[in-house]
Amino acid sequence: MKTIDSIAAELQGYDPQALSAETVNAFLSRLVEPVTEQESVGIFQALGRVLSQNVISPISVPPHDNSAMDGYAFNGAQLSSQALSLKVLGTAMAGKAWSGVAGPGECVKIMTGAIMPAGLDTVVPQEFVSCEGDTVTIPAGLLKVGDNRRELGEDLMQGQPALLKGELLTPAALGLLASLGINSVPVWRKLRVAYFSTGDEILSLGEAPREGAVYDSNRYTVFGLLTRLGCEVIDMGVVRDEPALLEAAFVHGALEADAIITSGGVSVGEADYTKAMMKKLGDVAFWKIAMRPGRPMAVGQIIRAKLASSPYAASASSYFKNSNKALSGSAVLFGLPGNPVAVMVTFLAFVRPALLQMMGSTAQQPPLLKARSSEVIRKKPGRTEYQRGTVSTAADGSLHVKTTGNQGSGVLSSMVQANGLIVLHHAQGNVAVGDEVDVMMFDGSI
Ligand code: AMP
Ligand code: MG
Repeated sequence: MKTIDSIAAELQGYDPQALSAETVNAFLSRLVEPVTEQESVGIFQALGRVLSQNVISPISVPPHDNSAMDGYAFNGAQLSSQALSLKVLGTAMAGKAWSGVAGPGECVKIMTGAIMPAGLDTVVPQEFVSCEGDTVTIPAGLLKVGDNRRELGEDLMQGQPALLKGELLTPAALGLLASLGINSVPVWRKLRVAYFSTGDEILSLGEAPREGAVYDSNRYTVFGLLTRLGCEVIDMGVVRDEPALLEAAFVHGALEADAIITSGGVSVGEADYTKAMMKKLGDVAFWKIAMRPGRPMAVGQIIRAKLASSPYAASASSYFKNSNKALSGSAVLFGLPGNPVAVMVTFLAFVRPALLQMMGSTAQQPPLLKARSSEVIRKKPGRTEYQRGTVSTAADGSLHVKTTGNQGSGVLSSMVQANGLIVLHHAQGNVAVGDEVDVMMFDGSI
């Protein structure tokens, strides 16, 4: 297990008081480890899971040369600068092989998907021929040898990897598996993530409103983000700012989950016990990130060996103890800021890539899109800013983006309206109307 200090020592320009967004990602990719247990799941359970082994194609797809059109199959060597007349010997239907032999001057009527009869390599679509009795005539100059024929194995060859370890199984991948006759696949086990909100001013839904209190929104955004990612979630509620309650929550979370996400209580001036408890039970760094929104963040690991002596260890349902899953040395801790938009932005920018790595995914971060800003955006060099925006297609087909109004770090309504985050990079300054900016599209992740 790598310690926070040893990772920090590996990184150039590591300054916990002014960390760049890139350094945060570099740090987290060194901190987290992929899960190690695999399981086999049926194809209907496989959507969104991560493959733990390559899938080798047991067959070739398609398994035979076959016709891509309804038409007439013939030997393309007969094509010349003249029209070609051929006698129709029979019909090849999809799903049945036509067993006859067609020689020069002969052809076979063929349906889409039917196996190409032996010796025939070209198909003329039926709408291009003229028929007279049992003879069809193909106009000159219409076809080349091999036209309208799908070749054996053109999608996949037997023995070749069809899907690779680390791939996230998409609807297209499910279809590909099915086309190979495969109905179950090896995947990494689901990642288990526990989360709770902190702060004495935070109300759970259903609680009576009181002065100065706000409803907890972070648990619900975090729940949604984790669920979309395909994690198993453990909702631990709102934890009040009392050492005993916080200790119980961290101990239970660390014994039952691979990672713990908290929100609130990590800013510099916090007078509460959240940071103290993270320090007591874990190996944790407290950062100020050069970004907006979302400056404070705590990152580290709750060391499971340290928990044995805790009075709360016994009452943990201890998923790892009661299953055959390997208990790694620690649970990863992501201590997010409290402000609702800061939670979502830090999740998308840092937590999501780290969790994907823990899930065994080898996917690259999706590429940022370039769009022209429809407005002036003020931006100070020296920090990465994430602005909520809507990308749309202008009449000339180019992409434009405009911000969704109030960018306060607590304003969720402008997050709801947005379809992406405008990423204004560390060194970048003000943006003028028409300038190209990078956008991280939400694309189903939020
Ligand atoms: P903190 O990081 O704890 O100082 O919180 C920063 C701001 O976020 C404060 O205004 C909190 O009231 C607010 N906040 C913290 N946690 C939550 C939450 N779970 N839901 C909604 N707002 C929150
Ligand atoms: Mg607080």
